Amino acid sequence: MKITLVGANLELEQVRRALDVPTHRPDLSPEPIAAAYARISRSEKSVDELRSEARDNVDKARRSNRTIVFEMGHSSIAEHATFNFDLEGVSRLAIEAVEHSRLASYTERSQRYVLIGKDIVVPDEIRSQPGLEPLFLEAVEGLHRSYRSLVEGLVEHHVRQAGGDAALDRSLRRDIDTSAREDARYLLPLATAGQLGLTLNARSLENMVRRLKGHPLGEVRRIGERLEEEALAVTPSLVRHTEPWTWEEPVEAFAPVAGQREDRGTASELERGRAVAGEGRAPYARLLFSTPSPGEALLAGVRFERGLPPPEPWPGTGGPEESEGSGGPVPRNPGFQAVADAWFAGAGVHAPAPRSFELVDFLFELTCSAACFGQLKRHRMATTLAGPYEADLGPVVPPSVVVAGLQEEFLSALQSSRRLLDELRPVIGPGADYLLVNAHCRRTLFKTNLRELVHIARLRLDRHAQWEIRDLAAQMCRLAAGRLPEMKRWLCGKDAFRSMC
Ligand SMILES: Cc1cc2nc3c(=O)[nH]c(=O)nc-3n(C[C@H](O)[C@H](O)[C@H](O)COP(=O)(O)OP(=O)(O)OC[C@H]3O[C@@H](n4cnc5c(N)ncnc54)[C@H](O)[C@@H]3O)c2cc1C
Repeated sequence: MKITLVGANLELEQVRRALDVPTHRPDLSPEPIAAAYARISRSEKSVDELRSEARDNVDKARRSNRTIVFEMGHSSIAEHATFNFDLEGVSRLAIEAVEHSRLASYTERSQRYVLIGKDIVVPDEIRSQPGLEPLFLEAVEGLHRSYRSLVEGLVEHHVRQAGGDAALDRSLRRDIDTSAREDARYLLPLATAGQLGLTLNARSLENMVRRLKGHPLGEVRRIGERLEEEALAVTPSLVRHTEPWTWEEPVEAFAPVAGQREDRGTASELERGRAVAGEGRAPYARLLFSTPSPGEALLAGVRFERGLPPPEPWPGTGGPEESEGSGGPVPRNPGFQAVADAWFAGAGVHAPAPRSFELVDFLFELTCSAACFGQLKRHRMATTLAGPYEADLGPVVPPSVVVAGLQEEFLSALQSSRRLLDELRPVIGPGADYLLVNAHCRRTLFKTNLRELVHIARLRLDRHAQWEIRDLAAQMCRLAAGRLPEMKRWLCGKDAFRSMC
């Protein structure tokens, strides 16, 4: 056996310093690695030889990549080249668009842990309209001032609650500061600049660039162009189809569907619906679909992996389930209960659930704030279809703001930007969304399988999780456990896991 590390993502500056070369060198590229792997399948030479040939003649390696990846369609070869990008001074709204791509890794500055400064992105849509920029700046700077004042108000409140001497205890003071920032950020506009570390392979990058270059927002299109320019400088042979990708659904997609309502429902109808379901305002989860007979589906997967015959189609119930208990209790499946108990008790808190758990799906309709959506979208194994932000659905007011008596201050800070938002939407379309704040809500269709839901539960039901996503995750887990009672105890956070074993 021979296992050799032949590449690791070295920082380009490190490489330049080590080689004492001032600028990009065209032959310093991940392409020889991809070119060697591309030829593995049809060559008798060792991969080491193939790479050495590719390294010695990068131009030839590039020609070979182009043929294999783009003419023969062996696109996965492009996955062997990886990039790291810093994205700085990009708006939270644009970061949402970037992070739509699943096959990539992201780490962004947290608005929970960092006190946010005055960095604001003025969108192209505002700049291009005479006279709008001062109005826009006034609104977003006003929100930033209100954010700062809310941080101070919440800190004072928490210090009072802690007996007034929290300044003496550094760790308590740190917790108080974090908690105040975490909730005050609900006032931060989506025009607030963030920074992001992005790692992805050339194939994912190509898809991302096409999508970003076809995006309705100018800032997002420019991010797509910059990513492309930077990547092409080092890997011209692996990033090629970068023409903007736009798509407009045919009108037939909007034809009435029998039995389905045509409008999205007003905020008050939504509220009434939630009141009937015994729920408050957002965050709010509703189960639209789950795999019929989920316990049987999971057991069939477990048995199949052990060499037993594939399952027969099993009779299913399916259909919408509003909440645990509606439609009568779902019977436990003792076989699956035994499998689940044995797995989780034996595997421990850090082990993923078995792959067979992917056989059971849940489709939720979720309503949550932008602050919460920012966290939800990071779960890349789920299918997340986000509807537009609907200012009428929100805002989500953090409970601490209400308890501290700062609700009026919070709501009045939103009013002026909301007025401008309503005025600008007919003029500049989606560019007006930069005036939305983290408290505003959207509805999302969120399809997840049980394996990912277990992972979401571990992270988001844990005591370190932010309160809104914890609430949303708790609702999803409760609804899922209503369909799959065997999982009730195992859909828990990391901190509660030990007590379940
Ligand atoms: C308390 C808390 C604080 C956080 N703070 C921050 C923060 O400050 N900044 C920030 O940017 N994020 C933060 N996050 C988000 C966090 O980093 C994750 O992005 C998020 O929780 C999604 O989970 P995940 O990455 O484990 O996997 P998911 O995307 O949910 O995927 C599920 C599993 O699939 C596998 N997987 C998916 N994609 C890949 C991949 N590309 N490579 C390898 N394995 C993969 C992993 O095993 C993963 O656990 C925080 C999360 C929590 C719970």
